[in-house]
Amino acid sequence: MGLVDIETAARLLRAGEVVAIPTETVYGLAANALDEAAVRRVFALKGRPADHPLILHARDPRPWAHFDARAERLAVYWPGPLTLVLPRRAVPDVVTGGRDTVAVRVPGHPVALDLLDHLDFPLAAPSANRFGQVSPTTAAHVLQAFAVPVLDGGACGVGVESTIVDLSRPQPSILRPGAIDADAVCLALGEELAPASDTPAPGTLPSHYAPRARVVLVDHAPPDSVALRRRAPADYARALYAELRALDVQGPEVIYAERCEPVGVGVAVNDRLERAAYSVRPPSTSTTRPVK
Ligand code: AMP
Ligand code: MG
Repeated sequence: MGLVDIETAARLLRAGEVVAIPTETVYGLAANALDEAAVRRVFALKGRPADHPLILHARDPRPWAHFDARAERLAVYWPGPLTLVLPRRAVPDVVTGGRDTVAVRVPGHPVALDLLDHLDFPLAAPSANRFGQVSPTTAAHVLQAFAVPVLDGGACGVGVESTIVDLSRPQPSILRPGAIDADAVCLALGEELAPASDTPAPGTLPSHYAPRARVVLVDHAPPDSVALRRRAPADYARALYAELRALDVQGPEVIYAERCEPVGVGVAVNDRLERAAYSVRPPSTSTTRPVK
């Protein structure tokens, strides 16, 4: 299956099929979040372990999660690249991995919003890549990995996955950095966040987003090396996954990745680079070792 229009995408989703959809962060593999068999198809396609919960995407997530005053404050960033973990309402166990919390988001992509307007159910959607591999930011990336119908929305504007904020505990915390940075979260909440290390997100693995080549994090890549070179944080985020893919196709043994300035979405870029660089493979004889 290749590219489909929005009516076809909506019809297939209503029939319990999986459709790849654009969001402003990365492309997602979407299914009707209320249809257990459809959601299971997403896990099977991705090769994703069943205990890695999915994010529920909706025009208005309030019917699916218990919103308190904090959640309402952070909802100012919707539609946008922010996911909230909240106590769940009636959501199938397959979406939440059986947890008593659910992760919800209103995506900020016009095509995704248009699609949701065609549907009377929310979409469960993880990134449209095989488990552990680099996330897709174009329809072509999705089609390289999956024979699924794809709704094309162009290249993703943000380029890295949403910020995840856990509001299910006494003190809010960031489970995954994204384009809505810690300062923006604190500003809207009017309170401090718990340290990130106290609360790892379920399914957050040290190794992720990994190309075939070994990724080595550096401040300055050697001249003439195969490298991701530094640029402004938002530009780096937008280009990150497409460039990792393009460099990997050249078949290098090593891709050098220059750290991003850790401001705004730059914190998320460095987080993804560290996971791409994390390796359980034994160090080779070269002098450069993978950075944890
Ligand atoms: P992905 O859709 O691949 O970007 O990953 C979604 C991530 O959201 C998961 O790997 C979890 O880290 C996080 N997540 C989803 N649901 C929950 C939840 N109920 N509680 C905590 N984290 C969640
Ligand atoms: Mg993912």
